[in-house]
Amino acid sequence: MVDMTKLLRHIFPDVNEDILGAILRLARKKTYSAGTVLCREGDSGNTFYLIAEGRVQYSKRMPNGEEHVMRFGEAGSFFGEMSLLHDTPRSATVTAVEDTTVIEIDRNIFEIALDQNPRIVMTLMRTLIERMRANDAQALADLQDEKEKVEQAYEELRYQEQRRNEFLDTMAHELRTPLTAAKGYIQLIKSGAMQGPALTMGIDKINVAFNRIISLVNDLLFVQEMALLDFGFSQVEITDVLNEALDTIREINQAGAAWIQLHIPEETPKLIADYDGLVRAFTHLLDNAVKFSPEGGDIIVRVIPHQDYLDVIIRDHGVGIPSEFMPRLFERFERVEKYGNYLFGGLGLGLAIVKHIIESHGGKIEVQSELGVGSEFTIRLPINAKQAIETPSSG
Ligand code: ADP
Repeated sequence: MVDMTKLLRHIFPDVNEDILGAILRLARKKTYSAGTVLCREGDSGNTFYLIAEGRVQYSKRMPNGEEHVMRFGEAGSFFGEMSLLHDTPRSATVTAVEDTTVIEIDRNIFEIALDQNPRIVMTLMRTLIERMRANDAQALADLQDEKEKVEQAYEELRYQEQRRNEFLDTMAHELRTPLTAAKGYIQLIKSGAMQGPALTMGIDKINVAFNRIISLVNDLLFVQEMALLDFGFSQVEITDVLNEALDTIREINQAGAAWIQLHIPEETPKLIADYDGLVRAFTHLLDNAVKFSPEGGDIIVRVIPHQDYLDVIIRDHGVGIPSEFMPRLFERFERVEKYGNYLFGGLGLGLAIVKHIIESHGGKIEVQSELGVGSEFTIRLPINAKQAIETPSSG
């Protein structure tokens, strides 16, 4: 049971008992269930409220239409005085957040009480000033928050813009190189300067150039759509996958392909996997191993079968990967084009594609690398990818 006199005395400690008694006789005690709106922002207000029990929230409608909760009001506090003192519409919406009992004092009684007792005015003024200060502080903190958010968003936008420009530059360059080569050979062939074996070589070069363009475009389309692609699982021999990947490398880089050695034990079990997906992934990995070994060197591919999975380890003796780049290694469009005096092409899509394919098989990929020494990629593939993605294990 709420003691209304005690509540009024608590809120207006300096006001004499007779006046409090008079106010109480004319006030109403009412209980509102949770969710009831007591005052609505913008409505005209004719009542002053003292919270006896429960809890309310003060909210304002933002320009974007969202309702923003500013603060909560507990028992022993009051609201509704602003529009009575200032004769303006309600500045916020007040909603009971739990069953709430209030003492309601109508405008005419409120005004008489104010007239007769300056101490009530003082109490109200003090509370109002405190609220305004708190509002100012809150507004400043909100503004600071907003400023930081805007700055972060701007920073992110600038970074994206820079990456977009870099990507367009890289893309233009990656397309221009094979196009220029193909055009050069076509002109030579047209002029009749290439005959016999030279002609065959010229046509091979044009073929390589076009394969390069096709594979760039395929990679771009693949990364755009890969999140939506379904993999088709069937029985797959890892030997077939690796040999097909090797054949593709051979078409692009005969000499580089010759550095690759496959070591696949006889007893390697068949996988349940997506054949085309794995070929795509291992082609990228072998292509990188060759590309980032500008001085050549053995590239050893070792398959190690285990009980439920097999590891494919690809070790090269190339330029290695800078440790600061490692955290971004598998992100799309991330690449390092310059190692010492060597410049490398690429869109930075290969490893993002590889990671997606391997993880879609319930597998994982890890890298160890040392600058100037070489890199080792370990791809762990479950024997049965279908089962692994349906019942993922901790391993
Ligand atoms: P890209 O097409 O640019 O090679 P990837 O996603 O395949 O894109 O590789 C991203 C980056 O990772 C490369 O630019 C390179 O810096 C690094 N990288 C990948 N594989 C190797 C490797 N075997 N040796 C050294 N660096 C590598």
